[in-house]
Amino acid sequence: FKAIPDSFPVIGEHMELVTREIDIKNFPLADGDILLKNQYLSLDPYLRGRMRDSQIESIADAFKLGKVLEGHGIGTVVKSNNRKYQVGDYYYGFIGWEEYTHVPADAVSGDEGLEKEISKSELPKSYFLGLFGMPGFTAYIGLNKIGKAKKGETIFISAASGAVGQVVGQIAKIKGLCVIGSAGDDSKIKYLVNELNFDGAFNYKTCNTDEELTKLCPNGIDIYFDNVGGETLDIALNHLKINARVIACGMISQYNTKNPYGVKNLMNVVTKRLLIQGFIVFDHYHEMEPFQKEMREWLKQGKLKYKEDLVEGIQNAPNAFLNLLTGKNFGKAVVKIC
Ligand code: NDP
Repeated sequence: FKAIPDSFPVIGEHMELVTREIDIKNFPLADGDILLKNQYLSLDPYLRGRMRDSQIESIADAFKLGKVLEGHGIGTVVKSNNRKYQVGDYYYGFIGWEEYTHVPADAVSGDEGLEKEISKSELPKSYFLGLFGMPGFTAYIGLNKIGKAKKGETIFISAASGAVGQVVGQIAKIKGLCVIGSAGDDSKIKYLVNELNFDGAFNYKTCNTDEELTKLCPNGIDIYFDNVGGETLDIALNHLKINARVIACGMISQYNTKNPYGVKNLMNVVTKRLLIQGFIVFDHYHEMEPFQKEMREWLKQGKLKYKEDLVEGIQNAPNAFLNLLTGKNFGKAVVKIC
């Protein structure tokens, strides 16, 4: 991590590829340390928020300048001085954007439950960074606990083909909601309607969001699952029903701008008695069990599909991250490292 960006990060200016050799056999490990060979790295929008001045408090620590960027990932232990981990074990937790990560004892944050699941599951390991991991769980908690979604309601989801959105839409369909989505590419729209059976979807870049919502939700929206904030949120507020809920999951349209969008339609909150609630998925990790159980069951019954945007090679991580921030990813962004 080379410099703090004030809009979209630029490769070379804010992120830089550095090559360094390590001697695995003689790699020094202090008591409790482990050395990982990384397999999969998850790229998530919140990582952009970590590219900030460390004086500014937020949900996750700021990246340190001159140090390796990190993210959720899966690795295998190649050397261990930690009683909890044997060579060959899976590790799920924070890893560097690198091929090998040295995890010092005080930073070992592996999730034992998920590591057990990963090692015994027949699913592709990368699914535990998406469908069965943080983004899938975000969809599940947001929809059930925050949105309290009920059969027969109408939900509108932005960034609907992404890691979180595609899961929100499918669970909402399973629960019997009418599901409308938006995304920024026609191939994504086709996928939502033809593959995921959304009741309607539109390309917000080429269509008029206000007109589309009028057409697709003629009786209004009960739940807006907001992944993008900005203008889409503003327009959605005008289409919500009385007592509707906004699940404030993320505002990606605002992550790279110096000029935040000013929402104009907030009076709807009063007149329509709206509930807008934000949430951070990490607060709910103790509630993972029912999520994994239900998701496994739905997958077995053929009720869930999953689209990944898998990029190979750690050297391609910065570009894949930019793709995620600009909508060029289609599905959950993951880097296959080896
Ligand atoms: P996605 O896989 O959906 O990728 C991000 C997508 O956002 C892009 O593909 C693009 O899709 C869309 N996008 C990018 N820029 C803009 C823009 N300017 N305006 C509108 N849409 C844009 O990411 P995730 O599913 O991982 O994350 C979705 C949201 O959920 C993010 O806001 C993220 O921060 C949030 N999140 C929140 C969590 C929580 O605990 N609250 C946990 C995890 C994620 P498109 O083609 O549709 O434009």
